[in-house]
Amino acid sequence: MSPTKGNSGRSKGKAQLPQKTCASCGRPFAWRKKWERVWPEVRYCSERCRRLRGRSTSS
Ligand SMILES: [Zn+2]
Repeated sequence: MSPTKGNSGRSKGKAQLPQKTCASCGRPFAWRKKWERVWPEVRYCSERCRRLRGRSTSS
């Protein structure tokens, strides 16, 4: 018997947060509390990326 700890089988804890890929930098980012209402619309990992990509919009 080895005294090593480790979860064998089930992973306890909360469910994994949903993830998306940033449309600007291409990196995956996870759900955040501040996005709980706009998550379906979120496309960028940060305000910075949003600005980088969101410039020059025709309107
Ligand atoms: Zn990004």
